[in-house]
Amino acid sequence: MKEIINEIMKKNIGDIKVSPSLSRYTTYKVGGTASVIVYPKNIDSLVSLMEIINEHDIKYIVLGNGSNVLFSDDLYEGIVIKLDKFDNIEFQDNKVMVGAGYSLIKLSLECAKRGLAGLEFASGIPGTVGGAVFMNAGAYNSDIKSVIKDVIVLTPELKVITLSKSEMKFNYRESFLQHHKGYICLGATFKLGHGERSELEEIIKERKLARKRTQPLEYPSAGSVFRNPPGLFSGKLIEDLGLKGYQVGGAMISPKHANFIINIGGATASDIKNIIDFVKLEAKQKYNINLRVEQRLINWSENEKEKE
Ligand SMILES: Cc1cc2nc3c(=O)[nH]c(=O)nc-3n(C[C@H](O)[C@H](O)[C@H](O)COP(=O)(O)OP(=O)(O)OC[C@H]3O[C@@H](n4cnc5c(N)ncnc54)[C@H](O)[C@@H]3O)c2cc1C
Repeated sequence: MKEIINEIMKKNIGDIKVSPSLSRYTTYKVGGTASVIVYPKNIDSLVSLMEIINEHDIKYIVLGNGSNVLFSDDLYEGIVIKLDKFDNIEFQDNKVMVGAGYSLIKLSLECAKRGLAGLEFASGIPGTVGGAVFMNAGAYNSDIKSVIKDVIVLTPELKVITLSKSEMKFNYRESFLQHHKGYICLGATFKLGHGERSELEEIIKERKLARKRTQPLEYPSAGSVFRNPPGLFSGKLIEDLGLKGYQVGGAMISPKHANFIINIGGATASDIKNIIDFVKLEAKQKYNINLRVEQRLINWSENEKEKE
């Protein structure tokens, strides 16, 4: 890995951080060390980086704001790519072209300020545009799918192409990118409606208060852990199982919102994973429901993942 890091440095791809603790790059504030984080300067540098990765056949992951991932406590022996430099934004009439590294919350606020309606749902989702597109993030009966026009991606063959909304195959917390390894979201174009700035900002303000009231935002977490089964709410289900406040080490099922696992101090990724596995087991045994994890489990052994 040392030689690969040297090669990355020699090619002047962008800033790098060697042996970073992933707990600093995830909202759960857990996770082991990674070999290296690389911040490519632009598309050309990203392509050069991918060439190195492909040549040496090393593991990599594109990480946004780390707000929907659970890395294991083990060493991630690979390259974490962060697209923080892909933070371009351009407004054109009712469209906005924005880079994958741009903050979704900031995007939502910028749009409201310009009287562009449709992204108010995203004002409390602490991810990047790339992560939100990958996840088809959503709230309040809306999601990325409702407002997206198209997505610019880097293909596994290292070509930059545009995928239309229909090619992105968005579904509930799902997109084409989740099922096609090697595609990297570089940016997206959103097509929005028109609204009154003051009204849009009022909606955002109200929702911020509602989130504060109903979600444990005072603790590190990665938002909702489980997808909602059809017609049901995972939070209600977990609450009915009597699991609010259930604790393993420094991790706890939030007493405020049962679909959140919070890090109450010193939690490990294994503490969180143990709670996830326990909730799944209880839901299966007591309700015969197979709960599916929304969050991305990264660097867990196949055996551990199987419980996913
Ligand atoms: C307090 C809190 C509240 C939340 N509320 C909501 C909510 O209301 N609705 C909701 O949907 N989610 C919610 N989330 C979850 C999370 O914020 C979203 O899923 C968000 O879209 C993830 O973005 P991210 O940049 O953090 O992605 P990350 O967590 O960094 O990554 C998620 C996945 O996307 C992949 N990825 C990231 N960027 C790219 C890219 N450029 N190209 C290819 N793949 C990429 C990663 O490899 C990973 O598999 C919440 C989280 C928190 C902590």
